[in-house]
Amino acid sequence: MSTRAAQFQATVRRREPLADHLVRLVLGGLDGFESSGVPDEWVGLVVPGQFQSRYYTVRSFDAGELTLDVVVHDVGLVTEWAMRDCVGDSVVITEPKASFDPPAGATWLLLVGDLTAMPAMARIAETRPDLTTYVIAEVPDDLSGYLPTHAQVTWLEPPSAGQSALAEVVEGIDWPAGEGYFWMAGESAQMRAIRKHLMREVRLPTSHYDVMGYWRATAGRQPRAVDPGPIWRAGKAAGKSDEQIWAEYDAAREATDG
Ligand SMILES: Cc1cc2nc3c(=O)[nH]c(=O)nc-3n(C[C@H](O)[C@H](O)[C@H](O)COP(=O)(O)OP(=O)(O)OC[C@H]3O[C@@H](n4cnc5c(N)ncnc54)[C@H](O)[C@@H]3O)c2cc1C
Repeated sequence: MSTRAAQFQATVRRREPLADHLVRLVLGGLDGFESSGVPDEWVGLVVPGQFQSRYYTVRSFDAGELTLDVVVHDVGLVTEWAMRDCVGDSVVITEPKASFDPPAGATWLLLVGDLTAMPAMARIAETRPDLTTYVIAEVPDDLSGYLPTHAQVTWLEPPSAGQSALAEVVEGIDWPAGEGYFWMAGESAQMRAIRKHLMREVRLPTSHYDVMGYWRATAGRQPRAVDPGPIWRAGKAAGKSDEQIWAEYDAAREATDG
């Protein structure tokens, strides 16, 4: 099986700042691009003059336009590009991959994440209004209108000294009764700790959660971003659980630091 993802040329049609740290980019072009329909689907984005991809959630794909909500942090390959006027720029997008897969009997969703997880959490909540949805979001900006109103949201203050409180908050969760699905994304080292907690303390079956390392705390630009797509496809083809696949993704990214 080929692990090379299909690629699509796109042009930035609009750039709309949503908050101090979040910029919406609306892309057109994209001949042949198709959404998987799974609400946490992501694409690779290659910006002008670069060969490396960074990964972004498909906030929406509608009438041929692909919307990505991009976090701008201190430094970074996409960050620095998205901070300036990039309307009219040509970019490359890879075919979407997705992970969200709640069990058929789920009655609730618990979504936890930082700013990078907001696009996926918003789209998941919009897509599944039939489920009681709890969100725990640790974000630096006021994004109160960003999530659908049926979601019951706990907003956490952003970390002051760079240390996120998300892991601690998850360890103290009062879990909803009945069958449900836990979805979380954020900084990789924290996500590893959360997976251990879910496995060892909460004893959630791996089919009932997804915990994804969306970015890695390193100094300066990431040495090389690892594409989660091939790892995902190969893992699925080999019958691995989401848990195993995302742990392998973390390990692959750690290997690029060496
Ligand atoms: C499946 C998936 C879906 C994702 N969806 C989204 C999305 O919808 N929106 C989105 O904005 N991001 C999303 N991300 C995260 C995004 O790919 C990373 O944050 C990426 O590193 C940003 O690239 P960059 O070029 O701006 O910074 P890089 O060049 O990759 O990194 C530069 C520096 O910034 C630090 N850094 C990287 N990301 C962050 C961050 N988020 N906060 C603080 N410091 C950071 C790094 O540690 C490094 O020191 C997703 C990631 C994955 C794997």
